[in-house]
Amino acid sequence: MQRTIKLSLPRNDFLVKTIELYNRVCNEVLRVGFGARTYNKNKVHRLTYYGVRQKYPMLQSSMIQCLRDQACDMLKHVKLKSLPKKKRYSAIRYNQRTFKPYLKRGIVSLCTIHGRIKVAVNIPEYFRQYLNWKVKSATLSFDAPIQKLRLHLTVKNETPSKLERLSVLGVDSGILNHAVLSNNVFFASNHIRNVKGRYQHLRQKLQAKGTRSAKRLLRKRSGREKRFMANINHRIAKLIVNQPFNMIALEKLRVKKGKKNGKRFNRKLGNWAWRQLQCYIEYKAEALGKTIAYVNPAYTSKTCSRCGQRGIRKGLIFKCPHCGFELNADLNAARNIAQKGKALLGRLLVNEPYAPLQYAS
Ligand SMILES: [Zn+2]
Repeated sequence: MQRTIKLSLPRNDFLVKTIELYNRVCNEVLRVGFGARTYNKNKVHRLTYYGVRQKYPMLQSSMIQCLRDQACDMLKHVKLKSLPKKKRYSAIRYNQRTFKPYLKRGIVSLCTIHGRIKVAVNIPEYFRQYLNWKVKSATLSFDAPIQKLRLHLTVKNETPSKLERLSVLGVDSGILNHAVLSNNVFFASNHIRNVKGRYQHLRQKLQAKGTRSAKRLLRKRSGREKRFMANINHRIAKLIVNQPFNMIALEKLRVKKGKKNGKRFNRKLGNWAWRQLQCYIEYKAEALGKTIAYVNPAYTSKTCSRCGQRGIRKGLIFKCPHCGFELNADLNAARNIAQKGKALLGRLLVNEPYAPLQYAS
């Protein structure tokens, strides 16, 4: 994506004189190229460079190359049918070798006929959103009636490709894994379960004791257990949001009234550590500009992620009787969640690109 930052500078004689000379020399180069019937940059360079250098020693060689390129582009644009002409104050080109922007400091450094000068620029509020973009080139012109210089900066940012925009990461939790990602990344939960088991054992012992010091110790330990879990969840959430995907799909854990929930759903609902992880993923993803989609968890563990038919779960393995697919059951569910997220994203891109994400059915 490309944008132009338009800046206005107060009159500066060095810059105005540079614009005048640049345009005068550019006209000379245009005449030579037109006479030789060529807009090839190499040919025009050979025909003009040394003459121009000798005649105008105050023009830096990088500026001469810049104006030669502009002249060639102008000749190419009219296909050599007529001789283009530059006006006294028309826009001159700057490239990476003839100017340097220091936009965050509010300064640009520009080549002139008296060497480089630094000019303070005032960037209007609206253009500040582009300060992190890469500055590709610039043009400078002089508006004589109002005695102001105009500096236009072309900035560019990397547009994500369509494929990347559609990349969705599904996240699920399982019995042996605190989190399973659809790109085959597992976060095993045995360490978590060990530590939690230890705390639970201690809790039972202290509760049975029931003394005042036991209760105090109990409170202390419970805080420590929470911090242990929060720390692990922060670390896992960070690793998840840094995976190379633009959208993260999570299961929506919401109790439905009058409906019987599945065993698996209830286990996740009762697992506060898992809900906390979802929460951390959501706010870390937001900070990175990634999207979170909450999808309907129905059948995510019973559907075959390859053919979409219902399959059977046997222990830790998912088996599909229709296509013979076998996979770790949690990974299969994570891939189904990713697919639901993708379907949701696809619908949004078609209908309303910037609508907030809705609940998927
Ligand atoms: Zn299948």
